[in-house]
Amino acid sequence: MELFLILHNLSANNIKEKIINREITSQEVVEELFEWICLKDPSVKAYLYLDKEGALLKAKEIDKKLNNGDKIGLLAGIPVAIKDNICTSGIKTTCASRMLENFVPPYDAFVIKKIKEEDAVIIGKTNLDEFAMGSSNENSAFHVTRNPWNTDYIPGGSGGGSAAAVTSDMAFMALGSDTGGSIRQPSAFCGNVGFKPTYGRVSRYGLVAFASSLDQIGTISKDVYDAALLLQVVSGHDGCDSTSSKMDVPEYLADINCINSKLKIGVPREFFGAGLNPEVGNAVTNALDIYKKKGAEIVDLSLPHCGYAVAAYYIIATAEASSNLARYDGVRYGYRSQLSEDNIIDMYSRVRAEGFGSEVKRRILLGNYVLSAGFYDAYYLKASKVRTLIKSDFEDAFDKVDCIISPTCPSPAFKIGEKITDPLEMYLSDIYTIPANLVGIPGVSIPCGFTTTGLPIGMQIMGKYFEEKKILQIAKLFENETGFHLKKPEIK
Ligand code: GLN
Repeated sequence: MELFLILHNLSANNIKEKIINREITSQEVVEELFEWICLKDPSVKAYLYLDKEGALLKAKEIDKKLNNGDKIGLLAGIPVAIKDNICTSGIKTTCASRMLENFVPPYDAFVIKKIKEEDAVIIGKTNLDEFAMGSSNENSAFHVTRNPWNTDYIPGGSGGGSAAAVTSDMAFMALGSDTGGSIRQPSAFCGNVGFKPTYGRVSRYGLVAFASSLDQIGTISKDVYDAALLLQVVSGHDGCDSTSSKMDVPEYLADINCINSKLKIGVPREFFGAGLNPEVGNAVTNALDIYKKKGAEIVDLSLPHCGYAVAAYYIIATAEASSNLARYDGVRYGYRSQLSEDNIIDMYSRVRAEGFGSEVKRRILLGNYVLSAGFYDAYYLKASKVRTLIKSDFEDAFDKVDCIISPTCPSPAFKIGEKITDPLEMYLSDIYTIPANLVGIPGVSIPCGFTTTGLPIGMQIMGKYFEEKKILQIAKLFENETGFHLKKPEIK
């Protein structure tokens, strides 16, 4: 238990330093971590798959490198969890779907290759809403992950497994994907730092596609420093993703504690209106006061078209999903029905009826509808125009300010079962995160308070294209002034 207590109080960078300084071996960390996971995961259920053998093998390799005085990577010995829609060579990647229940990718995603090169230790694959469609983890075909702060509550979605794993110290950092908020929203609900980079900053090669013009891989971590560390490793150009940017990657960790100019923070009125939980609103207002005390100027602004963001998102995302998910036909790979089929159409319908869950089917139906002849102009084309208007709202705003701050979500985590029968209510939980995906800008959620019932509250900082470094500095400034990120759920 003593070692468990050490693990509980360390960030990813702390554990890396301890390993590098030979205070603890990578193997010891992995062994203790798996013991802890055995105790903890039955109540949280963050993981879909654990790779103890692979983790121990990697740990031994790291210890050997250190013993030999060989060059060691930036993530030396850090236990990392991977959302189960990111391909891992030789390890099942299910997207929490029956459709891919037995799919073992023959290759690593770009981000997996990168973290392996930098000596991260992959612990396992974490739960998500099926194909990353959802906000609560309740759409997983396998089980519901629970919020470590209170197991009656959802951890958020779709990357709830990754967020819950980091919060309960079953991993020290995690990789996730964010199409409409799936990194930031669960991070807010679980008290983590969740970073969605600029579209194109991190290669999507090997990420199972949901909505390709919105999908972005990012990080979930215990603090801002760890976010910068992991982002550094996974950023950069990749010829295998045609949308990957060739822009240079700055040194995210250098000057992380410095803010050069007098900061101008934009606060959009539309993000503080009806539907916002007062405790969340107050926590963000208090956070803005802290920035003010540090010399920042708070600028009231308007993003007038953001009110249409959720509607536009559920047209664009479903349209793209219906096309991306058309490949799951039971022929090339994926689920195959056990029932006999009379013809190929029968076979396709059986595979898709049995292999997909109801939310995924809803999205496919909606997507096909909005793209169908006669409706395309009314829905898809209109939504694309709205997307352009939202982009220009942000461009105008960023002429005046360095960053935009808002709540990450309109409410704290909700109870398991509370919204599952009301898809619209569920969709609204991403109301503040969706705009950054439609526009393609970076956004981070950081802990900024707690409700009276002890649930974490997240604040979102959005920045200009490719200004990840500035957002990290702005986030770090807040973290240095407060201690919300250090508070942890009771160890049980
Ligand atoms: N909750 C949103 C959805 O259901 C966003 C999901 C995501 O970012 N992957 O589509």
